[in-house]
Amino acid sequence: MTEISTSPTHSFLDYAPAPESKSILHLKKSYGLFIGGEFVKGSGKPFLTVSPSTEETIAEIANASAKDVDAAVAAARKAYDSTWRKLSGADRGKYLFRIARLVQERARELAVAESLDNGKPIKESRDVDVPLVAAWFFYYAGWADKLDYAGLGPNPKALGVAAQVIPWNFPLLMLAWKIAPALAAGNTVVIKPAETTPLSALIFAEILQQADLPAGVVNIITGAGDTGEALVNHPDVNKVAFTGSTAVGRAIAKSTAGSGKKLTLELGGKAANIVFDDAPIDQAVEGIVNGIFFNQGHVCCAGSRLLVQENVHEEVVERLKTRLATLRLGDPLDKNTDIGAINSREQLDRIRTLSDIGEKEGAERWTAPCVIPDKGFWFAPTIFDNVSTSSTIAREEIFGPVLSVLTFRTPAEAIAKANNTPYGLSAGIWSDKGSKILAVADELRAGVIWANTFNRFDPASPFGGYKESGYGREGGRHGLAAYLSSAGWGAK
Ligand code: NAD
Repeated sequence: MTEISTSPTHSFLDYAPAPESKSILHLKKSYGLFIGGEFVKGSGKPFLTVSPSTEETIAEIANASAKDVDAAVAAARKAYDSTWRKLSGADRGKYLFRIARLVQERARELAVAESLDNGKPIKESRDVDVPLVAAWFFYYAGWADKLDYAGLGPNPKALGVAAQVIPWNFPLLMLAWKIAPALAAGNTVVIKPAETTPLSALIFAEILQQADLPAGVVNIITGAGDTGEALVNHPDVNKVAFTGSTAVGRAIAKSTAGSGKKLTLELGGKAANIVFDDAPIDQAVEGIVNGIFFNQGHVCCAGSRLLVQENVHEEVVERLKTRLATLRLGDPLDKNTDIGAINSREQLDRIRTLSDIGEKEGAERWTAPCVIPDKGFWFAPTIFDNVSTSSTIAREEIFGPVLSVLTFRTPAEAIAKANNTPYGLSAGIWSDKGSKILAVADELRAGVIWANTFNRFDPASPFGGYKESGYGREGGRHGLAAYLSSAGWGAK
Protein backbone atom coordinates (compact mmCIF):
# COMPACT_ATOMS: atom_id res chain seq x y z
CA MET A 1 0.00 0.00 0.00
CA THR A 2 1.29 3.49 -0.79
CA GLU A 3 2.35 5.33 2.30
CA ILE A 4 0.32 8.50 2.74
CA SER A 5 1.86 11.27 4.76
CA THR A 6 -0.20 12.43 7.73
CA SER A 7 1.79 15.63 8.09
CA PRO A 8 -0.49 18.62 8.65
CA THR A 9 0.85 20.39 5.58
CA HIS A 10 0.08 17.58 3.07
CA SER A 11 2.77 19.11 0.89
CA PHE A 12 2.22 16.68 -2.00
CA LEU A 13 -1.42 17.69 -2.23
CA ASP A 14 -1.23 21.41 -1.50
CA TYR A 15 -3.79 23.60 -3.20
CA ALA A 16 -3.59 27.36 -3.56
CA PRO A 17 -6.28 29.14 -1.53
CA ALA A 18 -9.50 29.44 -3.54
CA PRO A 19 -11.78 31.67 -1.48
CA GLU A 20 -15.25 32.44 -2.76
CA SER A 21 -15.76 36.21 -2.98
CA LYS A 22 -18.07 37.90 -0.51
CA SER A 23 -18.76 40.70 -3.00
CA ILE A 24 -21.98 38.97 -4.10
CA LEU A 25 -23.52 39.77 -0.70
CA HIS A 26 -25.38 43.04 -0.17
CA LEU A 27 -25.43 42.88 3.59
CA LYS A 28 -27.24 45.47 5.66
CA LYS A 29 -25.75 46.70 8.91
CA SER A 30 -28.89 45.71 10.71
CA TYR A 31 -31.91 43.54 9.93
CA GLY A 32 -35.46 43.96 11.18
CA LEU A 33 -38.23 41.41 11.57
CA PHE A 34 -40.11 40.35 8.46
CA ILE A 35 -43.76 40.83 9.37
CA GLY A 36 -46.67 41.43 6.99
CA GLY A 37 -44.36 41.49 3.96
CA GLU A 38 -42.08 44.24 5.31
CA PHE A 39 -39.01 44.59 7.46
CA VAL A 40 -40.00 46.22 10.75
CA LYS A 41 -38.12 47.09 13.93
CA GLY A 42 -38.18 44.59 16.76
CA SER A 43 -39.05 45.80 20.25
CA GLY A 44 -36.54 43.54 22.06
CA LYS A 45 -32.82 44.30 22.50
CA PRO A 46 -31.06 43.58 19.17
CA PHE A 47 -28.24 41.02 19.06
CA LEU A 48 -25.24 40.43 16.80
CA THR A 49 -24.67 37.54 14.47
CA VAL A 50 -20.99 36.64 14.11
CA SER A 51 -18.99 34.57 11.69
CA PRO A 52 -17.82 31.48 13.62
CA SER A 53 -14.65 31.21 11.53
CA THR A 54 -13.38 34.72 12.32
CA GLU A 55 -15.53 35.85 15.27
CA GLU A 56 -16.24 39.04 13.28
CA THR A 57 -19.65 40.65 13.47
CA ILE A 58 -21.75 40.21 10.34
CA ALA A 59 -24.84 42.26 11.22
CA GLU A 60 -27.13 43.41 13.99
CA ILE A 61 -30.33 41.39 14.22
CA ALA A 62 -33.70 42.45 15.63
CA ASN A 63 -35.00 40.61 18.66
CA ALA A 64 -38.71 39.77 18.64
CA SER A 65 -40.51 40.33 21.94
CA ALA A 66 -43.86 38.76 22.83
CA LYS A 67 -45.50 41.87 21.33
CA ASP A 68 -43.71 41.28 18.02
CA VAL A 69 -44.70 37.60 18.09
CA ASP A 70 -48.32 38.78 18.48
CA ALA A 71 -47.94 41.05 15.47
CA ALA A 72 -46.41 38.25 13.36
CA VAL A 73 -49.14 35.76 14.26
CA ALA A 74 -51.81 38.41 13.58
CA ALA A 75 -50.25 39.08 10.15
CA ALA A 76 -50.23 35.36 9.37
CA ARG A 77 -53.85 34.99 10.49
CA LYS A 78 -54.95 37.96 8.40
CA ALA A 79 -53.14 36.60 5.33
CA TYR A 80 -54.68 33.17 5.89
CA ASP A 81 -58.24 34.51 6.13
CA SER A 82 -58.04 37.19 3.49
CA THR A 83 -55.90 35.65 0.75
CA TRP A 84 -54.06 32.39 1.12
CA ARG A 85 -56.96 30.08 1.99
CA LYS A 86 -58.95 31.53 -0.91
CA LEU A 87 -56.29 30.86 -3.54
CA SER A 88 -56.53 27.71 -5.63
CA GLY A 89 -53.85 25.07 -5.17
CA ALA A 90 -52.56 25.85 -8.66
CA ASP A 91 -52.09 29.51 -7.72
CA ARG A 92 -50.31 28.64 -4.47
CA GLY A 93 -48.10 26.34 -6.52
CA LYS A 94 -47.15 29.21 -8.84
CA TYR A 95 -45.78 31.18 -5.89
CA LEU A 96 -43.79 28.18 -4.73
CA PHE A 97 -42.35 27.64 -8.22
CA ARG A 98 -41.41 31.31 -8.30
CA ILE A 99 -39.65 31.08 -4.93
CA ALA A 100 -37.77 27.96 -6.10
CA ARG A 101 -36.54 29.72 -9.22
CA LEU A 102 -35.47 32.82 -7.27
CA VAL A 103 -33.53 30.59 -4.86
CA GLN A 104 -31.72 29.16 -7.88
CA GLU A 105 -31.05 32.63 -9.27
CA ARG A 106 -29.62 33.83 -5.97
CA ALA A 107 -27.97 30.49 -5.13
CA ARG A 108 -24.41 31.79 -4.94
CA GLU A 109 -25.36 34.66 -2.67
CA LEU A 110 -27.32 32.32 -0.38
CA ALA A 111 -24.44 29.84 -0.25
CA VAL A 112 -21.92 32.54 0.69
CA ALA A 113 -24.26 33.94 3.35
CA GLU A 114 -24.83 30.48 4.81
CA SER A 115 -21.14 29.63 5.01
CA LEU A 116 -20.32 33.01 6.49
CA ASP A 117 -22.96 32.82 9.22
CA ASN A 118 -22.93 29.09 9.95
CA GLY A 119 -19.27 28.16 9.34
CA LYS A 120 -20.02 25.27 6.94
CA PRO A 121 -17.74 24.77 3.91
CA ILE A 122 -18.89 26.59 0.79
CA LYS A 123 -18.77 23.38 -1.22
CA GLU A 124 -21.48 22.01 1.05
CA SER A 125 -23.69 25.12 1.13
CA ARG A 126 -23.22 25.52 -2.65
CA ASP A 127 -23.64 21.86 -3.68
CA VAL A 128 -25.93 20.47 -0.98
CA ASP A 129 -27.87 23.00 1.11
CA VAL A 130 -28.97 25.52 -1.50
CA PRO A 131 -29.77 23.06 -4.33
CA LEU A 132 -31.87 21.07 -1.84
CA VAL A 133 -33.67 24.25 -0.76
CA ALA A 134 -34.70 24.87 -4.38
CA ALA A 135 -35.60 21.18 -4.81
CA TRP A 136 -37.87 21.31 -1.75
CA PHE A 137 -39.82 24.29 -3.11
CA PHE A 138 -40.07 22.73 -6.59
CA TYR A 139 -41.27 19.46 -5.11
CA TYR A 140 -43.99 20.94 -2.90
CA ALA A 141 -45.01 23.41 -5.64
CA GLY A 142 -46.03 20.31 -7.57
CA TRP A 143 -48.18 19.04 -4.68
CA ALA A 144 -50.14 22.28 -4.10
CA ASP A 145 -52.90 21.44 -6.61
CA LYS A 146 -52.88 17.69 -5.98
CA LEU A 147 -53.69 17.48 -2.27
CA ASP A 148 -56.66 15.23 -2.96
CA TYR A 149 -54.16 12.59 -4.06
CA ALA A 150 -51.93 12.79 -0.97
CA GLY A 151 -53.66 9.78 0.57
CA LEU A 152 -55.29 11.89 3.27
CA GLY A 153 -58.85 11.51 2.07
CA PRO A 154 -60.80 13.79 -0.24
CA ASN A 155 -60.45 17.55 0.04
CA PRO A 156 -58.00 17.78 2.96
CA LYS A 157 -57.95 21.18 4.67
CA ALA A 158 -55.16 23.49 5.76
CA LEU A 159 -54.74 23.91 9.51
CA GLY A 160 -54.35 27.69 9.63
CA VAL A 161 -51.29 29.44 11.11
CA ALA A 162 -48.13 27.35 11.49
CA ALA A 163 -45.49 28.29 14.09
CA GLN A 164 -42.10 26.92 13.10
CA VAL A 165 -38.84 26.95 15.07
CA ILE A 166 -35.61 25.77 13.48
CA PRO A 167 -31.97 25.11 14.50
CA TRP A 168 -28.61 26.43 13.30
CA ASN A 169 -27.11 23.39 11.55
CA PHE A 170 -28.93 23.73 8.19
CA PRO A 171 -30.48 27.18 8.56
CA LEU A 172 -31.90 27.65 5.07
CA LEU A 173 -32.60 23.99 4.37
CA MET A 174 -34.58 23.58 7.59
CA LEU A 175 -36.51 26.72 6.65
CA ALA A 176 -37.37 25.13 3.28
CA TRP A 177 -38.37 21.83 4.92
CA LYS A 178 -40.80 23.79 7.09
CA ILE A 179 -42.16 26.51 4.79
CA ALA A 180 -42.58 24.60 1.49
CA PRO A 181 -45.07 21.93 2.68
CA ALA A 182 -46.89 24.42 4.93
CA LEU A 183 -47.59 26.80 2.05
CA ALA A 184 -48.37 24.03 -0.44
CA ALA A 185 -51.01 22.75 1.99
CA GLY A 186 -52.51 26.23 2.29
CA ASN A 187 -51.25 27.35 5.71
CA THR A 188 -49.59 30.63 6.55
CA VAL A 189 -46.38 30.72 8.56
CA VAL A 190 -44.45 32.42 11.33
CA ILE A 191 -40.94 31.01 11.47
CA LYS A 192 -38.07 31.64 13.87
CA PRO A 193 -34.51 30.81 12.76
CA ALA A 194 -31.85 30.01 15.37
CA GLU A 195 -30.19 32.97 17.04
CA THR A 196 -26.70 32.13 15.72
CA THR A 197 -27.77 31.73 12.07
CA PRO A 198 -30.47 34.22 11.08
CA LEU A 199 -28.77 35.63 7.96
CA SER A 200 -29.94 33.32 5.15
CA ALA A 201 -33.54 33.47 6.42
CA LEU A 202 -33.45 37.26 6.17
CA ILE A 203 -32.13 37.11 2.62
CA PHE A 204 -34.89 34.59 1.94
CA ALA A 205 -37.36 37.26 3.17
CA GLU A 206 -36.09 39.49 0.34
CA ILE A 207 -36.77 36.62 -2.07
CA LEU A 208 -40.35 36.45 -0.81
CA GLN A 209 -40.72 40.15 -1.57
CA GLN A 210 -39.26 39.57 -5.04
CA ALA A 211 -41.70 36.72 -5.56
CA ASP A 212 -44.61 39.04 -4.64
CA LEU A 213 -45.84 36.53 -2.10
CA PRO A 214 -48.95 38.11 -0.53
CA ALA A 215 -48.06 40.04 2.65
CA GLY A 216 -48.18 38.00 5.84
CA VAL A 217 -48.19 34.54 4.23
CA VAL A 218 -44.66 34.02 5.60
CA ASN A 219 -43.37 36.01 8.57
CA ILE A 220 -39.79 35.62 9.77
CA ILE A 221 -38.99 36.65 13.30
CA THR A 222 -35.56 36.54 14.90
CA GLY A 223 -34.66 36.07 18.53
CA ALA A 224 -33.56 33.42 21.01
CA GLY A 225 -35.35 30.69 22.98
CA ASP A 226 -37.83 33.06 24.67
CA THR A 227 -39.03 34.25 21.26
CA GLY A 228 -39.48 30.63 20.18
CA GLU A 229 -41.35 29.87 23.39
CA ALA A 230 -43.72 32.82 22.91
CA LEU A 231 -44.33 31.71 19.32
CA VAL A 232 -45.13 28.05 19.97
CA ASN A 233 -47.35 28.95 22.94
CA HIS A 234 -49.26 31.67 21.11
CA PRO A 235 -52.99 30.92 21.41
CA ASP A 236 -53.77 31.78 17.78
CA VAL A 237 -51.40 29.19 16.32
CA ASN A 238 -52.87 25.93 14.91
CA LYS A 239 -49.75 23.96 14.18
CA VAL A 240 -46.27 23.79 15.72
CA ALA A 241 -43.25 22.34 13.90
CA PHE A 242 -39.95 22.20 15.76
CA THR A 243 -36.46 20.98 14.89
CA GLY A 244 -33.76 21.14 17.57
CA SER A 245 -32.71 19.56 20.83
CA THR A 246 -34.67 16.83 22.56
CA ALA A 247 -34.83 18.88 25.78
CA VAL A 248 -36.59 21.80 24.07
CA GLY A 249 -38.76 19.43 22.05
CA ARG A 250 -39.93 17.80 25.25
CA ALA A 251 -40.76 21.22 26.78
CA ILE A 252 -42.77 22.14 23.68
CA ALA A 253 -44.66 18.82 23.76
CA LYS A 254 -45.63 19.55 27.38
CA SER A 255 -46.64 23.15 26.85
CA THR A 256 -48.72 22.45 23.73
CA ALA A 257 -50.40 19.31 25.11
CA GLY A 258 -54.17 19.75 25.28
CA SER A 259 -54.05 22.99 23.28
CA GLY A 260 -55.40 21.43 20.08
CA LYS A 261 -52.25 22.44 18.20
CA LYS A 262 -50.93 19.80 15.85
CA LEU A 263 -47.27 19.10 16.69
CA THR A 264 -44.30 17.61 14.84
CA LEU A 265 -40.87 17.27 16.47
CA GLU A 266 -37.57 16.56 14.71
CA LEU A 267 -35.03 16.14 17.48
CA GLY A 268 -31.60 14.67 18.06
CA GLY A 269 -30.04 11.38 17.04
CA LYS A 270 -27.18 8.95 17.70
CA ALA A 271 -27.17 6.94 14.51
CA ALA A 272 -25.37 3.65 14.02
CA ASN A 273 -23.41 3.25 10.80
CA ILE A 274 -23.00 -0.55 10.52
CA VAL A 275 -20.13 -1.92 8.44
CA PHE A 276 -20.13 -5.68 7.72
CA ASP A 277 -16.98 -7.53 6.69
CA ASP A 278 -18.34 -8.10 3.17
CA ALA A 279 -18.81 -4.37 2.57
CA PRO A 280 -16.84 -2.55 -0.13
CA ILE A 281 -14.41 -1.09 2.39
CA ASP A 282 -13.20 1.93 0.40
CA GLN A 283 -16.77 3.02 -0.25
CA ALA A 284 -17.67 2.38 3.37
CA VAL A 285 -14.79 4.59 4.53
CA GLU A 286 -16.09 7.42 2.33
CA GLY A 287 -19.56 6.83 3.74
CA ILE A 288 -18.28 6.92 7.31
CA VAL A 289 -16.49 10.22 6.60
CA ASN A 290 -19.59 11.67 4.96
CA GLY A 291 -21.74 10.28 7.75
CA ILE A 292 -20.03 12.03 10.63
CA PHE A 293 -17.71 14.74 9.27
CA PHE A 294 -20.18 16.34 6.82
CA ASN A 295 -21.21 19.76 8.17
CA GLN A 296 -18.72 19.33 11.08
CA GLY A 297 -20.96 16.60 12.45
CA HIS A 298 -23.70 19.17 13.15
CA VAL A 299 -26.25 16.79 11.69
CA CYS A 300 -29.13 15.29 13.66
CA CYS A 301 -28.93 12.08 11.57
CA ALA A 302 -25.08 11.92 11.65
CA GLY A 303 -23.56 8.44 11.75
CA SER A 304 -21.88 9.17 15.06
CA ARG A 305 -21.57 5.51 16.15
CA LEU A 306 -19.55 3.33 13.81
CA LEU A 307 -20.41 -0.33 14.38
CA VAL A 308 -17.80 -2.35 12.54
CA GLN A 309 -17.53 -6.12 12.29
CA GLU A 310 -14.67 -7.28 14.49
CA ASN A 311 -12.61 -9.00 11.78
CA VAL A 312 -12.35 -5.81 9.67
CA HIS A 313 -12.18 -3.36 12.55
CA GLU A 314 -8.47 -2.70 12.38
CA GLU A 315 -8.42 -2.29 8.62
CA VAL A 316 -11.40 0.10 8.59
CA VAL A 317 -10.03 2.27 11.38
CA GLU A 318 -6.58 2.47 9.76
CA ARG A 319 -8.02 3.43 6.37
CA LEU A 320 -10.28 5.95 8.07
CA LYS A 321 -7.32 7.64 9.78
CA THR A 322 -5.45 7.80 6.49
CA ARG A 323 -8.45 9.39 4.81
CA LEU A 324 -9.08 11.86 7.63
CA ALA A 325 -5.48 13.03 7.48
CA THR A 326 -6.18 14.38 3.98
CA LEU A 327 -9.19 16.51 4.98
CA ARG A 328 -8.67 20.25 4.94
CA LEU A 329 -9.93 22.25 7.88
CA GLY A 330 -10.17 26.02 7.56
CA ASP A 331 -11.83 29.00 5.90
CA PRO A 332 -15.43 27.95 5.14
CA LEU A 333 -15.43 30.22 2.09
CA ASP A 334 -12.44 28.40 0.55
CA LYS A 335 -13.65 25.99 -2.14
CA ASN A 336 -11.08 23.38 -1.05
CA THR A 337 -12.23 23.28 2.56
CA ASP A 338 -13.68 19.99 3.83
CA ILE A 339 -14.18 20.86 7.49
CA GLY A 340 -15.43 24.31 8.43
CA ALA A 341 -15.90 26.05 11.76
CA ILE A 342 -18.00 24.90 14.71
CA ASN A 343 -21.09 27.09 14.76
CA SER A 344 -20.63 28.72 18.17
CA ARG A 345 -18.35 28.85 21.19
CA GLU A 346 -21.09 27.22 23.23
CA GLN A 347 -21.25 24.24 20.85
CA LEU A 348 -17.44 24.00 20.78
CA ASP A 349 -17.37 23.85 24.58
CA ARG A 350 -19.98 21.07 24.52
CA ILE A 351 -17.94 19.03 22.01
CA ARG A 352 -14.78 19.51 24.06
CA THR A 353 -16.48 18.53 27.31
CA LEU A 354 -18.00 15.35 25.88
CA SER A 355 -14.74 14.38 24.17
CA ASP A 356 -12.84 14.80 27.44
CA ILE A 357 -15.42 12.58 29.13
CA GLY A 358 -14.88 9.96 26.40
CA GLU A 359 -11.18 9.93 27.09
CA LYS A 360 -11.67 9.76 30.87
CA GLU A 361 -14.04 6.83 30.44
CA GLY A 362 -11.28 4.88 28.70
CA ALA A 363 -11.87 5.22 24.94
CA GLU A 364 -8.78 5.65 22.72
CA ARG A 365 -8.71 9.14 21.23
CA TRP A 366 -7.20 9.95 17.82
CA THR A 367 -7.24 13.42 16.28
CA ALA A 368 -6.62 14.21 12.62
CA PRO A 369 -3.48 16.28 12.11
CA CYS A 370 -4.92 19.71 11.26
CA VAL A 371 -3.61 23.21 11.68
CA ILE A 372 -6.19 25.03 13.79
CA PRO A 373 -6.64 28.72 12.82
CA ASP A 374 -5.92 31.31 15.54
CA LYS A 375 -9.37 32.85 15.51
CA GLY A 376 -12.79 31.25 15.40
CA PHE A 377 -14.28 28.02 16.72
CA TRP A 378 -12.63 24.82 15.48
CA PHE A 379 -12.50 21.16 16.34
CA ALA A 380 -10.36 18.71 14.37
CA PRO A 381 -11.97 15.45 13.18
CA THR A 382 -11.67 12.97 16.04
CA ILE A 383 -12.12 9.23 16.39
CA PHE A 384 -12.68 7.36 19.62
CA ASP A 385 -11.85 3.68 19.30
CA ASN A 386 -12.79 0.83 21.66
CA VAL A 387 -15.84 2.65 22.91
CA SER A 388 -18.20 0.64 25.08
CA THR A 389 -21.98 0.78 24.71
CA SER A 390 -22.34 2.32 28.17
CA SER A 391 -19.83 5.10 27.48
CA THR A 392 -21.21 8.65 27.54
CA ILE A 393 -19.93 9.33 24.02
CA ALA A 394 -21.81 6.30 22.72
CA ARG A 395 -25.05 7.52 24.27
CA GLU A 396 -25.13 11.32 24.10
CA GLU A 397 -25.44 13.34 20.94
CA ILE A 398 -22.17 15.28 20.59
CA PHE A 399 -23.23 17.20 17.48
CA GLY A 400 -19.65 17.65 16.34
CA PRO A 401 -16.93 15.95 14.24
CA VAL A 402 -16.45 13.08 16.68
CA LEU A 403 -16.87 9.40 15.81
CA SER A 404 -17.27 6.61 18.36
CA VAL A 405 -16.14 3.18 17.14
CA LEU A 406 -17.67 -0.03 18.52
CA THR A 407 -17.38 -3.58 17.22
CA PHE A 408 -19.74 -6.52 16.75
CA ARG A 409 -19.46 -10.16 15.67
CA THR A 410 -22.88 -11.16 14.35
CA PRO A 411 -25.78 -9.35 12.67
CA ALA A 412 -27.86 -9.93 15.83
CA GLU A 413 -25.22 -8.17 17.94
CA ALA A 414 -25.04 -5.30 15.44
CA ILE A 415 -28.82 -4.86 15.61
CA ALA A 416 -28.88 -4.99 19.41
CA LYS A 417 -26.10 -2.41 19.70
CA ALA A 418 -27.57 -0.14 17.02
CA ASN A 419 -30.94 -0.09 18.79
CA ASN A 420 -29.36 0.45 22.20
CA THR A 421 -30.00 4.19 22.25
CA PRO A 422 -32.82 6.45 23.36
CA TYR A 423 -32.82 7.95 19.86
CA GLY A 424 -34.10 6.52 16.58
CA LEU A 425 -33.57 8.92 13.73
CA SER A 426 -31.32 7.21 11.18
CA ALA A 427 -28.90 4.36 10.49
CA GLY A 428 -26.57 3.10 7.76
CA ILE A 429 -25.79 -0.45 6.62
CA TRP A 430 -22.78 -1.41 4.51
CA SER A 431 -22.73 -4.87 2.96
CA ASP A 432 -22.36 -6.58 -0.39
CA LYS A 433 -25.49 -8.65 0.28
CA GLY A 434 -28.87 -7.12 -0.41
CA SER A 435 -30.67 -9.77 1.62
CA LYS A 436 -28.53 -9.00 4.67
CA ILE A 437 -29.19 -5.28 4.28
CA LEU A 438 -32.95 -5.80 4.10
CA ALA A 439 -33.02 -8.23 7.02
CA VAL A 440 -31.01 -5.90 9.25
CA ALA A 441 -32.92 -2.77 8.16
CA ASP A 442 -36.15 -4.52 9.14
CA GLU A 443 -34.93 -4.84 12.73
CA LEU A 444 -33.55 -1.31 13.20
CA ARG A 445 -35.66 1.21 15.09
CA ALA A 446 -34.69 4.20 12.99
CA GLY A 447 -36.81 6.46 10.81
CA VAL A 448 -34.35 6.62 7.90
CA ILE A 449 -31.98 3.82 6.90
CA TRP A 450 -29.36 4.22 4.21
CA ALA A 451 -27.83 1.20 2.44
CA ASN A 452 -24.27 1.54 1.14
CA THR A 453 -24.54 5.32 1.39
CA PHE A 454 -25.21 7.90 4.08
CA ASN A 455 -26.67 11.40 4.55
CA ARG A 456 -28.62 11.46 1.29
CA PHE A 457 -31.68 13.69 1.18
CA ASP A 458 -34.47 13.96 -1.33
CA PRO A 459 -37.64 16.04 -1.06
CA ALA A 460 -39.74 13.04 -2.14
CA SER A 461 -38.47 10.90 0.71
CA PRO A 462 -39.98 11.17 4.21
CA PHE A 463 -37.59 11.92 7.08
CA GLY A 464 -38.20 11.69 10.82
CA GLY A 465 -37.60 9.68 13.96
CA TYR A 466 -38.72 7.24 16.59
CA LYS A 467 -38.38 7.48 20.37
CA GLU A 468 -36.48 10.58 21.59
CA SER A 469 -35.79 11.63 18.00
CA GLY A 470 -39.33 12.95 17.80
CA TYR A 471 -42.45 12.27 15.78
CA GLY A 472 -43.98 13.26 12.47
CA ARG A 473 -42.35 13.13 9.05
CA GLU A 474 -40.92 15.85 6.83
CA GLY A 475 -40.54 15.39 3.10
CA GLY A 476 -42.60 13.47 0.59
CA ARG A 477 -46.33 12.97 0.67
CA HIS A 478 -45.99 12.20 4.39
CA GLY A 479 -44.65 15.71 5.00
CA LEU A 480 -47.98 17.16 3.84
CA ALA A 481 -49.88 15.25 6.52
CA ALA A 482 -48.31 17.46 9.18
CA TYR A 483 -49.99 20.51 7.63
CA LEU A 484 -53.36 19.14 6.62
CA SER A 485 -56.45 17.99 8.37
CA SER A 486 -58.28 15.10 6.78
CA ALA A 487 -61.02 15.08 9.41
CA GLY A 488 -62.17 18.60 8.62
CA TRP A 489 -61.48 19.88 12.14
CA GLY A 490 -58.30 21.82 11.44
CA ALA A 491 -59.04 25.08 9.70
CA LYS A 492 -60.50 27.95 11.63
P1 NAD B 1 -32.18 24.20 20.77
O1 NAD B 1 -33.23 23.17 20.81
O2 NAD B 1 -31.83 24.92 22.02
O3 NAD B 1 -32.58 25.32 19.68
C1 NAD B 1 -33.26 25.05 18.46
C2 NAD B 1 -34.23 26.20 18.20
O4 NAD B 1 -35.18 26.28 19.25
C3 NAD B 1 -33.57 27.57 18.15
O5 NAD B 1 -34.22 28.37 17.18
C4 NAD B 1 -33.83 28.13 19.55
O6 NAD B 1 -33.83 29.53 19.61
C5 NAD B 1 -35.21 27.59 19.82
N1 NAD B 1 -35.57 27.44 21.22
C6 NAD B 1 -34.75 27.31 22.30
N2 NAD B 1 -35.48 27.16 23.43
C7 NAD B 1 -36.79 27.19 23.06
C8 NAD B 1 -38.03 27.05 23.77
N3 NAD B 1 -38.05 26.86 25.08
N4 NAD B 1 -39.18 27.10 23.07
C9 NAD B 1 -39.17 27.26 21.73
N5 NAD B 1 -38.04 27.41 21.01
C10 NAD B 1 -36.86 27.36 21.66
O7 NAD B 1 -30.92 23.56 20.18
P2 NAD B 1 -29.48 24.22 20.16
O8 NAD B 1 -29.17 24.99 21.41
O9 NAD B 1 -29.38 24.95 18.90
O10 NAD B 1 -28.61 22.92 20.18
C11 NAD B 1 -28.56 22.12 21.34
C12 NAD B 1 -28.47 20.68 20.97
O11 NAD B 1 -29.63 20.30 20.22
C13 NAD B 1 -27.31 20.36 20.07
O12 NAD B 1 -26.12 20.18 20.73
C14 NAD B 1 -27.83 19.09 19.42
O13 NAD B 1 -27.62 18.02 20.28
C15 NAD B 1 -29.30 19.33 19.26
N6 NAD B 1 -29.67 19.82 17.92
C16 NAD B 1 -30.34 18.98 17.10
C17 NAD B 1 -30.71 19.42 15.85
C18 NAD B 1 -31.45 18.57 14.88
O14 NAD B 1 -31.52 18.90 13.71
N7 NAD B 1 -32.04 17.47 15.31
C19 NAD B 1 -30.37 20.70 15.44
C20 NAD B 1 -29.70 21.55 16.32
C21 NAD B 1 -29.37 21.08 17.56
